[in-house]
Amino acid sequence: MAEKGAYLTGTAFIRPSIFEIIAQESFGSTTEPAFKKLLSFIVSFNPGRYKDILKWADECYLLFDIILQRYYLKKYSASFSEAFYGLKRIATENSKLKRELSKKQKGLSLVLIVLFPYLRSKFSQLSQRYKLEELDGYIPQTKWEKLYRAFIVKGYSITFMIYEFMVLYNYILYISGKSPFTSPLLRLLSISLTYAEPKLVMSVSDLLRKIKNNSFGISDGIDIFQRVVTTSLEFGAFFLQFLSWWNQEHYLTNLMSLPIPPPPVIPETAKKYKGICPICCKTLRVHTVLPVSGYAFCYQCILSVIRKSGKCPVTNYPAKEDDLIRLYLD
Ligand SMILES: [Zn+2]
Repeated sequence: MAEKGAYLTGTAFIRPSIFEIIAQESFGSTTEPAFKKLLSFIVSFNPGRYKDILKWADECYLLFDIILQRYYLKKYSASFSEAFYGLKRIATENSKLKRELSKKQKGLSLVLIVLFPYLRSKFSQLSQRYKLEELDGYIPQTKWEKLYRAFIVKGYSITFMIYEFMVLYNYILYISGKSPFTSPLLRLLSISLTYAEPKLVMSVSDLLRKIKNNSFGISDGIDIFQRVVTTSLEFGAFFLQFLSWWNQEHYLTNLMSLPIPPPPVIPETAKKYKGICPICCKTLRVHTVLPVSGYAFCYQCILSVIRKSGKCPVTNYPAKEDDLIRLYLD
C-alpha cells in the first residue's frame, strides 16, 4: 500500500513489472475477438435481417472501443486493460513523474489506443487480400495498380516488422531501467505507466447504512450501475481469455463445438428386413446398398427393380442404377 502510493510523494515513480505490462497488453487484445464473437452470436438469431452488420464488424468494434476506452481514460486515466491490471497513465519528463495526464494527452491516448489497432487490422486485411489474389493469378490492369499493390503488401510487412522490433527494443530498455516508457506509442506521447491508487469501493454495509439513513442518492445509484457494468465487462473479458486459452490447450475437446447428434432412429420397416432382401425376402446375396434410402438388397434384385421403376422399392425415393453401392461384407 505504502509502496504503491509512493509515486505521489517522490519524483521517481513505481514502475510496474514487465510481466504486468505484457499481461495487460495481451489482455487488451482479447476484447476484439470477444466482441466479434458476441456480435456473430446476436446476428445468428436473425441472419437475414442482420447479416449486413457482420460486414461492418470492424467498425462496430471501433465504435464500442471508443466508448469503452474513453470511459476508462476519463475515470481511471488508463485503458480498459491497464485499469484491469491496476495501472494508470502519467505524464513524464526526463524520466521523472511530472503530473497527471493533460486533456491533450488523454485525447491522443484515446486516438492511439483505438485507432492504431483498427488501422493495423485494416492494413493487414488488405495486404492479405492482395496476396491471395496474386496467388489466384490476378494480373493488375495498369502499372500504377501493380505498384500500389506491391506497396501495400511489402509496406505492411516492413512497417510492422520495424514496429515489432521497436516494441522489443523498448521492452529491453524498460527492463534495464534506461527508459520509463513501456511501448513506442507511449514514448511518442511521453506517457508512462504506474500503479493506480486503490479504487474506493462502497461496501455492502455502507450501502445498507445509506439506505437506512435515507441518504442513498442518484449519484450512488449511477456509481453502483457503472461498477456493475464495468466489473461484468472485466470479468467477461477475463473469462473469454480463459476460454480461448482452454481451447488452445484442449483443442481436441473443444468446449465451444456443437454436441454430436444422436444416430437416427431405426424405422420399423427396416427392422423387418434385418438380414434379408426386401425384394426376394431371402438372405442377402451380394450385399448392395441404395444410399438414398439406406436399405440393402441383393445386387440382382435391386438392379432389375431400379431399371424398371427408377425408385427404391421400400421408400419410393427416386434412384438410378449409378447410385448402387456394393458392400464388401463377406
Ligand atoms: Zn433379393
